[in-house]
Amino acid sequence: MKVFKFGGASVKDADSVRNVASLMKKFSGERIIVVVSAMGKITNLLETLVDAVCLKKGGAKPIIEQIKKYHLDIVKDLFPNSSHSVYDDINSVFLQLEKSKPSDSYNKEYDQMVSLGEIISSKIVSAYLNEAGVKNNWLDVREVIQTDSTYREGKVDWEKTERNLSTPSRSPKGGELGDGLLVTQGFLGKTPDGFTTTLGREGSDYTAAILAYCTNAESVTIWKDVPGVMNADPKWFDETKLIEQMSYQDAIELSYYGATVIHPKTIKPLQNKKIPLYVRSFLKPDEKGTLINDKQSQLPIPCFIFKVNQILLSISPKDFSFIVEENFSDIFKIFADHQVKINVMQNSAISFSVCADNDERKIPELIKTLQKKFRVLYNENLELITIRYYNQSTIDRVCIGKKVFMEHKSRYTVQLVVKNA
Ligand code: ASP
Ligand code: MG
Repeated sequence: MKVFKFGGASVKDADSVRNVASLMKKFSGERIIVVVSAMGKITNLLETLVDAVCLKKGGAKPIIEQIKKYHLDIVKDLFPNSSHSVYDDINSVFLQLEKSKPSDSYNKEYDQMVSLGEIISSKIVSAYLNEAGVKNNWLDVREVIQTDSTYREGKVDWEKTERNLSTPSRSPKGGELGDGLLVTQGFLGKTPDGFTTTLGREGSDYTAAILAYCTNAESVTIWKDVPGVMNADPKWFDETKLIEQMSYQDAIELSYYGATVIHPKTIKPLQNKKIPLYVRSFLKPDEKGTLINDKQSQLPIPCFIFKVNQILLSISPKDFSFIVEENFSDIFKIFADHQVKINVMQNSAISFSVCADNDERKIPELIKTLQKKFRVLYNENLELITIRYYNQSTIDRVCIGKKVFMEHKSRYTVQLVVKNA
């Protein structure tokens, strides 16, 4: 069994879906679970719809129309025969969207609504593959991936999920799971009481890893619009190099520091079962891309990760006492309660500095809570630069024209919080 993951960019329009079909033909006869994300940037659009409905911001109707039109344009292009069953399939999902109502729990409602992007996408891809002769069954991943009730960040119940995946009756049409091709959704799970959860934004990679772990798959392939894992994001660097092979450890570090090519949670389950992970180009499917496995090797070149829109918070006790352990535990709890991930931190005698993504949905509330007990100063519009396998000349190079607010070095990694000077 193999697991393939196709992200939003690989199914963003009709031609992309056709490309997935021609790519899959190269693997005909193999047992593969195909995990797909919502098409293009639909998840972002669904998020604005959740706000319109749940926060009663208004304007839900035009957003629903936009979501419908986006998918219908693709479906009409792929299925000229308007009596194809895919039309009914996706129309019934649109109806669910139209019926959404504000509820007491924002996060719960978010998951019920935002998950529909993956449901629609997987229905279209599955139907089109069948149409193109790539026979497959559609699997509702919520039938197998069991989580707790942490909406928007579902925690996987590994035992139940493993059990579900080994129970043949769970698989569609009574066939053995993995007989031929299955098309399913990334990003989703189900609570014990049957509600949909999501696994955190960009969580489809993680889904591929969960399915691979629980089925003891031979490999996972993430199909991307880049040639593989590069040593820097081509958005920021003129010269980037493909990394042909890297260790799980390096992949974990790089994704943890913000390399967006793989979701950070993806690697650990694969590492635990030594399942190789390939990152390959869906535009050039004959190229090898990157292989991530358990070979202990250091990368031959420095890797650069840029994160923009960072905020640096400097937190100190209101009474100017020293920063002590009780303060730390309060501070960390506040960050955890607000689901704010700390990107780098540093402490001095009287203050504690934290760099985080300046997420407008989270940071203002976080600061308000911190201010009840602490004095909080902050700097915005910063960048966080991480260099793995750094040397002084790489540091000098990225710091040209920048003012450094914080520098944090370990043996292999340096992190710099900077602002344009
Ligand atoms: N569609 C979801 C998102 O955009 C999950 C994913 O793409 O991995 O966050
Ligand atoms: Mg996505």
